[in-house]
This record gives sequence, structure tokens and C-alpha cells, in this order.
Amino acid sequence: MNALSRRARSLLLWELLAGMALTLRYMFRRPVTVNYPYEKGPLSPRFRGEHALRRYPNGEERCIACKLCEAICPALAITIEAEPRDDGSRRTTRYDIDMTKCIYCGYCQEACPVDAIVEGPNFEFAAETREELFYDKEKLLANGDRWEAEIAKALSLAAPYR
Ligand code: SF4
Ligand code: SF4
Repeated sequence: MNALSRRARSLLLWELLAGMALTLRYMFRRPVTVNYPYEKGPLSPRFRGEHALRRYPNGEERCIACKLCEAICPALAITIEAEPRDDGSRRTTRYDIDMTKCIYCGYCQEACPVDAIVEGPNFEFAAETREELFYDKEKLLANGDRWEAEIAKALSLAAPYR
């Protein structure tokens, strides 16, 4: 491009017009972005989000306190204490996850023989303090109750790959 042509393009505001034409062209295309948090993209059924402890449909806790999840956790994030109940069944008296240590590897979920501890679909659990990320059994069971429908669906879809 010679100097004369460059000056003519500059005089005609060529770059500005080209930019505006490009903007106009994209205004009529399907957007590739989503208006988060009002819109969200699809999640894989194997997505590993916030942890939850699940119950059976009758409300009984699934967890049988076998401690496999605690043993396999590479981050030592899980702490479990357990006692037998009066009926002889074994249940946890304490189930804590330090979410500040968790690396979301999913090993706890893989190790669990009864699909009790799972990583659910929730990824919106940012907190302002560390203490809020020290989850106890009550919090984990509440997560399970809240997300059970989505978790059950994701587990059934991911079953062929497990
Ligand atoms: S996802 Fe991994 S690091 Fe996190 S609690 Fe489970 S086993 Fe531990
Ligand atoms: S969550 Fe599963 S693996 Fe962990 S103690 Fe309970 S039953 Fe065992």
C-alpha cells in the first residue's frame, strides 16, 4: 500500500467503517456467550462440583461409615467418626470435608460402595471466609437433599463410563 492510498484510507476513516461493519455483522449472529448467572451452559454428568451426602428415598442416610472415602482422599480432606446404632447398623457421628484442601479428584465418590458421597452439579459455592468451607455432616446432607434429583440423573447418565 503506497502513501497516497494510506492517506486516502485514513481520510475516509476506512478502519472505523470496517470495524463498524464487523460489529454490525456479528449483531445478527447467534451469540457464543451466555448471560451468566441468568443463563448457564450445559454440564457434563461427570462434572465434579460441590460435595453432597445422599439419602435413600425413605430418608435413611446411605453412608455406612466404611471410611473408604476418608482412606482414599489424597488431600486428607475427609474426617469421619462412627458408632454403631442401637439397631446394630453403623453410621457416622461426624463427617467433615475441608473444602479448602479438596482437589476435586472424585476419588471419594469412586470409592463409595453405596453412592453416598458424591460431587454434585453445584459450582456456585464461593465463600468469603475459610470457615464457611469447612463442611460438616449437616451441611453435606443438606446439599444431598437439595441436589438429589440432579445427582441421581447425572449418576444414571454417567453409569456406562464408571
Ligand atoms: S474429591 Fe478428592 S480431594 Fe476432594 S474430598 Fe474427595 S477424594 Fe478428597
Ligand atoms: S461416604 Fe461412602 S465411602 Fe465414605 S464412609 Fe460413607 S459409605 Fe463409606
